[in-house]
Amino acid sequence: MSINNSSKLFSLFEEKLGDRAQFNAPLAPHVAYQVGGPADILVFPNNEEELNWIDTLAKSNQIPQTVIGTGTNLLVVDEGIRGIVISLAKAFQTIEEIPSNEPGKVWIKCGGGVLKPTLLKWAIEKGYTGLEFSSGVPGTIGGGIYMNAGTKYGCYGDILKELRFFDFNTGFKQLKRQDLHFSYRESEVRNSLVIWAMFELQHGDSATIRKEVDRIILERAEKQPLDFPSCGSTFKNGSDYSSGRLIEKAGLKGLCVGGAEISTKHANFILNKGNATAKDILTLIDIIKVRVREQFGVTLECEVCVLGGQLEGTKSQKN
Ligand SMILES: Cc1cc2nc3c(=O)[nH]c(=O)nc-3n(C[C@H](O)[C@H](O)[C@H](O)COP(=O)(O)OP(=O)(O)OC[C@H]3O[C@@H](n4cnc5c(N)ncnc54)[C@H](O)[C@@H]3O)c2cc1C
Repeated sequence: MSINNSSKLFSLFEEKLGDRAQFNAPLAPHVAYQVGGPADILVFPNNEEELNWIDTLAKSNQIPQTVIGTGTNLLVVDEGIRGIVISLAKAFQTIEEIPSNEPGKVWIKCGGGVLKPTLLKWAIEKGYTGLEFSSGVPGTIGGGIYMNAGTKYGCYGDILKELRFFDFNTGFKQLKRQDLHFSYRESEVRNSLVIWAMFELQHGDSATIRKEVDRIILERAEKQPLDFPSCGSTFKNGSDYSSGRLIEKAGLKGLCVGGAEISTKHANFILNKGNATAKDILTLIDIIKVRVREQFGVTLECEVCVLGGQLEGTKSQKN
């Protein structure tokens, strides 16, 4: 049985997951850019048993599997994603306090599907400090771990204590922070699905934490174009250059292809001004890379993950 011989496969999914399995499902409503084609099968597992079931069925039929969060760092190509796309949007949403044996410290076990702003709000209300660095960063905790998302104030790898994930090669795994490597917008959690992350926070004061969060959000709003869909920074910064500044110096601010535009406010943001296609955005990415390489000899590295097309069996492609 293959995805081309799909009616039996679809019945199996429907029987197991009901309306939490969708076929030829548009992905644009599930990603920040609001562009991109459909997934052959989009599933919303409720628990680890269902994850395992999906994986077994996928493996026995050689169907590729891809994980998405809320797509705030994803560009799904117009051809869509072949195979199974797994979203944690309907489960893996719990935030749980685990008793810590270290004075002043709190351990928080957070589902991979929890939204970062939800966790931050929860921490503010509880008076737990340590997550302020994530102020204004959208997306799920799972996506945040995969990307080692962060700001100049810190990143998720800094506060991680333990991680549970499903490795598509070897199955369920639970590792301590010291057994995992994180670097700038990179984690070792590749070809895996983050089930939960345990973070170490400290007792603090709600009002002080809220003030710092508000300050960072304001600081970001002054610099970032937040009125149109984007994936935040398109390219990673180098140790000795700011990608945004190079793009600006190359005279590319405001350049449009179809409905996509290089922001006039922050050149490292590519915006969907209303009717962009993934191809429009990819064309701008290519133009930027060529022009910056020609003018400054710098090869920019995409921070945004490009998913889909004919990448059978590949979880994600970074270009
Ligand atoms: C306005 C704006 C501002 C932003 N600012 C920042 C910023 O300051 N700092 C920053 O780091 N990022 C920033 N981003 C980018 C983005 O928010 C982060 O990378 C975020 O962590 C992505 O989370 P997500 O759930 O949306 O993941 P997605 O975009 O859905 O996925 C990103 C990658 O993570 C993988 N993934 C998603 N969920 C899981 C999971 N459960 N397990 C394993 N892999 C998974 C996907 O396969 C994909 O490869 C910004 C984006 C926007 C739109």
